Amino acid sequence: MLKFLKQVVDYGKEAVQAGRYIGEGLSVTFDHMSRRPVTVQYPYEKLIPSERFRGRIHFEFDKCIACEVCVRVCPINLPVVDWTFDKASKKKELKHYSIDFGVCIFCGNCVEYCPTNCLSMTEEYEMATYDRHELNYDNVALGRLPYKVTDDPMVTPLRQLAYLPKGVMDPHNLPADVQRAGDRPEDLVEQEK
Ligand code: SF4
Ligand code: SF4
Repeated sequence: MLKFLKQVVDYGKEAVQAGRYIGEGLSVTFDHMSRRPVTVQYPYEKLIPSERFRGRIHFEFDKCIACEVCVRVCPINLPVVDWTFDKASKKKELKHYSIDFGVCIFCGNCVEYCPTNCLSMTEEYEMATYDRHELNYDNVALGRLPYKVTDDPMVTPLRQLAYLPKGVMDPHNLPADVQRAGDRPEDLVEQEK
């Protein structure tokens, strides 16, 4: 009889414990119902990268003077600048230029210090490949114009939190002309003038 009573008490304790665990789990579920929706239906929806996003580097061959400043300021000496010296003009002549994005840490030092501004960081972040050697971009691949989320008719661009109007948390179904909260960079430049 005592054994049976003990079993009933244990069963009761376990039932209470299970009820507590279910309650804890559901409290997390209900808490998420009041949070900002963060789901993006990629690849049909994509977030617009921020203005200072450091994505794939763009390179302008004609502007490069083969000074190799980008190599010296790179923490891993990554850009490969292949040039020859033209005796007639007494100038360096650029032959090839490449950056391996499988190794690059996207710090932006090369872009910051290039004296002719032939390097720039783009908002392109979709660079996945099956072969890591394909990440070694030559000057032709580096010169390709970057992909823009806002230019792709197959994609619904979504604003990140920083681009949303005041009080709005959901980037879906937002009118295109509605202004984001706070000052825009061009407004700040105007104010500085
Ligand atoms: S710093 Fe700029 S100009 Fe100089 S080699 Fe690098 S990319 Fe070319
Ligand atoms: S972004 Fe940084 S790591 Fe990549 S090539 Fe430029 S300096 Fe080197």
